[in-house]
Amino acid sequence: MDCKNKDKNLTMCNCTYECSRKGICCECLHYHRKRGELPACYFNKEKEATYDRRINNI
Ligand code: SF4
Repeated sequence: MDCKNKDKNLTMCNCTYECSRKGICCECLHYHRKRGELPACYFNKEKEATYDRRINNI
């Protein structure tokens, strides 16, 4: 699915993991929410780099 906001979203995305949801924030949020996690943008640089997206890792 195309997202009209994808390019704009990517300018704000801090995620260093390459996946198909990158820049499509609604898909990213749903993916992680289902797993009890948060998207990369909730984590600081060090925590983001661990790829541990669990809520208690903030
Ligand atoms: S936070 Fe997760 S779903 Fe979102 S772009 Fe990064 S790896 Fe993909």
